[in-house]
Amino acid sequence: MNDKPYRPQEDIVTLMTQFNQEIKASPELPDPEIRLLRARLVFEEALEFVKGCGCTVTRTAAASGAEALIDQLSVVLDPAGSPDLVEYVDGCVDQLVVTYGALNAAGIKAQSAWDEVQRSNMSKAWPHCSVCDAVLERGAGPALAHPDDANAHGGDWSAVLKLHKRADGKVIKSPTYSPADLKRVIEEQTRQANA
Ligand SMILES: [Zn+2]
Repeated sequence: MNDKPYRPQEDIVTLMTQFNQEIKASPELPDPEIRLLRARLVFEEALEFVKGCGCTVTRTAAASGAEALIDQLSVVLDPAGSPDLVEYVDGCVDQLVVTYGALNAAGIKAQSAWDEVQRSNMSKAWPHCSVCDAVLERGAGPALAHPDDANAHGGDWSAVLKLHKRADGKVIKSPTYSPADLKRVIEEQTRQANA
C-alpha cells in the first residue's frame, strides 16, 4: 500500500530545489536562457512520446516551403516504428515532469489554471433540460435557465451535458461556451503572491 498523495507539482518543486533550478515565487515569464531550456525539455519529451506511440514526424506534403519548418511538421504513424507501452507511459510522465517544471519556472500554481481550462473545455458541451431535452440558456452569472418558462417542470429539472457535432465530427461549441481566461487566473495568482 502506498498512501503517498499524488502531488505532482509539489514533487517537481522538490526536484528543482534539489537540482538548483530557478522557481519563481510569483507569475512571470522566465529569462531567455530558462525559456530555451524549458522549450527544449518539453520538445524532447513530446518527441519521445511520439516515438512511443509508433509515430514519427514528417514534413507535410502540402508544405509550400514558404512557412517556417515548425509550421510544416505533422505527426504520422511510422510503418517502421516500434510502439511500446513502457515508452508510451514514460513519455506521458516525463511530459508531466517538464510541464510542471515549466510552470514552476514561471511561478504558476497549476490548480487554478487547470480548473479554468477544464471549465472552458466542459463548457463546449451543450446543457439540456433533463426532463424535456430543451437546450438551456445562460442565466444570471454561471447559472443556467430553462428557455421560455421560468418555472418549467415546477423547477424540478437539472442540466444534462450533450455534445453537438457537425457531420465531419467537429464539436460545435455550445451557446454557454466561454474560452479559458488564463489572463485572469495569472492576475489572481500575482495578487495572492504579493499579498
Ligand atoms: Zn425542460
